[in-house]
Amino acid sequence: MIGAVDIGGTKIAVGVVDDHGKVLSKTQSPTDPDRYEAGIESIARMLHDGARQAGVQITGIGIGSTGPVDPMKGEFGDVDFLPGWRGRSPVRDLAERFKLRVALENDGDAAALAEAGWGAGRNRSRLIYVTVGTGIGGGIVLDGKLYRGVEGAHPEVGHHVVDPNGPQCSCGFRGCWESLAAGPAMAAWMESQAPADYPHRQGITAQRICELAQQGDAVALQAVEHEAFYLGLGLANLINLFAPDAIVLSGSVMKSAHLFLERIRKLIRSGCRFVPAEKTELMLASLGDDTNLIGAARVWHYRFGQQ
Ligand SMILES: [Zn+2]
Repeated sequence: MIGAVDIGGTKIAVGVVDDHGKVLSKTQSPTDPDRYEAGIESIARMLHDGARQAGVQITGIGIGSTGPVDPMKGEFGDVDFLPGWRGRSPVRDLAERFKLRVALENDGDAAALAEAGWGAGRNRSRLIYVTVGTGIGGGIVLDGKLYRGVEGAHPEVGHHVVDPNGPQCSCGFRGCWESLAAGPAMAAWMESQAPADYPHRQGITAQRICELAQQGDAVALQAVEHEAFYLGLGLANLINLFAPDAIVLSGSVMKSAHLFLERIRKLIRSGCRFVPAEKTELMLASLGDDTNLIGAARVWHYRFGQQ
């Protein structure tokens, strides 16, 4: 029974997850970006409450967090969303409190490990996990091992450039994949391109666009076409670079994957001729809204499970 901690920029979810990836209890609280000690206090309380609710004792703690994090030192790096947490070590602090082993990974890597171990990606040797929501993130698992870059760095699949004339992104580039294909990009495109008298423009979201497209709204269908093109370009790039067995798709935008997948597959067929792209499966994530929480638990198994 692993205590799972998913630290995001706006909320922290905590749960208890069994050895098959099943969530036995879960709860959440808002993240205070400036107060680390209060955050650890609240995580510890939620872990205690969660274990009591589930009627179990936790035997380890796994953490997935918005990044960057240093998984080996167990510390937060230069986390944009959590200025007060920079350089702090939740691994050390929770290990001291609970007298348990604690492991930390970037949340994209955590979710990739969960889908590879307990989800849609089981039995796929080379797997790329991609989540498309307010941003685009993910993780790469090769032959059961998490791919790590130099000094354990987490690769940023969302920030490869798709159009150098595209919108400015906080990563420093214009037109990276995230800036063109994440949910907010879809809404921004709609706001700038919809006709002046279009009634749904005000405060439109990616989710609303997908609902409207589903109802046959012509402008929304154009936005879907545009979104599918940019989603497809990024996925095609990943296929050309890695020729993976599978790409597992997750995130709020992918809840409407049926609107995009046919166009995406067509685009991939048109441009990935030098790799066996038809062998790369595009799969939908199977762990649902708890993927990140389950991923946090999987982080513990990945680090200590074999020992
Ligand atoms: Zn970027």
